[in-house]
Amino acid sequence: MSLISVGSVAFDAIETPFGKVDRIVGGASVYIAYAASNFVTPVQVISIVGDDFPVSEMDEMKSRGIQLEGMEIVAGKKSFFWSGRYHLDMNTRDTLVTDLNVLADFIPVVPESYQSSEFLMLGNLAPSTQLSVINQMKTRPKLIVMDTMNFWMDIALDDLKAVLKKVDVLMVNDSEARQLSGEYSLVKAAKKIMDMGPRFLVVKKGEHGALLFHEDHVFFAPALPLEEVFDPTGAGDTFAGGFIGYLAKTKDISFENMKTAIIVGSALASFCVEKFGPNRLKEITKTDIEQRISQFVQLVNFDIDLV
Ligand code: AMP
Repeated sequence: MSLISVGSVAFDAIETPFGKVDRIVGGASVYIAYAASNFVTPVQVISIVGDDFPVSEMDEMKSRGIQLEGMEIVAGKKSFFWSGRYHLDMNTRDTLVTDLNVLADFIPVVPESYQSSEFLMLGNLAPSTQLSVINQMKTRPKLIVMDTMNFWMDIALDDLKAVLKKVDVLMVNDSEARQLSGEYSLVKAAKKIMDMGPRFLVVKKGEHGALLFHEDHVFFAPALPLEEVFDPTGAGDTFAGGFIGYLAKTKDISFENMKTAIIVGSALASFCVEKFGPNRLKEITKTDIEQRISQFVQLVNFDIDLV
């Protein structure tokens, strides 16, 4: 069983109320791949970097069962660079710098060895890039999950709608769901978005958890109240990686199993925020993940006598 992760591989500079890093490895595909590799290998990355990207980082990814055959390395050019500063509440951030560098000319190529992948995670990238990957797959994957952001709704809405028609699950945050649908109620927003193509919608609400919509069903997964939140960068991508990684491992794409998958995604995301960049994700073990998932079970476990 394998899973494809398409998305940025980057250097980030991050400032939170608790510290600052000037250059740390990041990018959606890195977070997705580290999270998913806990459940399924190989995780097959499709991305692009410059020749400034450290070989040691690529070796570390490979040692976790992450395949980089689909990672283009462009000589003489720089990797994508993103910089952000978080506000005190850590739920909001300002983007300070987005230097696309190699990402500006990214034309993804799906290697032959990735063709049999049954699970496809499209990280946040230009919708036309996401569509190109779907169109290159000779057999449609069993499940296609897509992330996007308000930026693409502003500048490439038609392209975005074309991709939406071809995916199974859309993941967005609450403000993006409202922008895409023009509805304030998330229930109405979900109905409208599911009419655009995806059969499932995941609405992420940061420290307030996530909602999973499918037909007339809705499921809520909390986020674990953490004592220390150090750096939320990549939490959404880590959530996505945990979600699709678990589905790929269990090979079950029913709504019932997706409920478990969003708890798994939430558990992985709760590790991500504990250290800068993907550092915490690189350390965690299966036992850590199991313990964290049981904390989630405890969080929402209660008895009630109906009156
Ligand atoms: P998240 O916190 O889940 O939104 O993901 C943050 C990661 O997304 C960072 O590591 C960035 O390098 C990456 N990122 C930020 N902006 C973009 C963009 N416009 N396109 C692709 N990746 C991005």
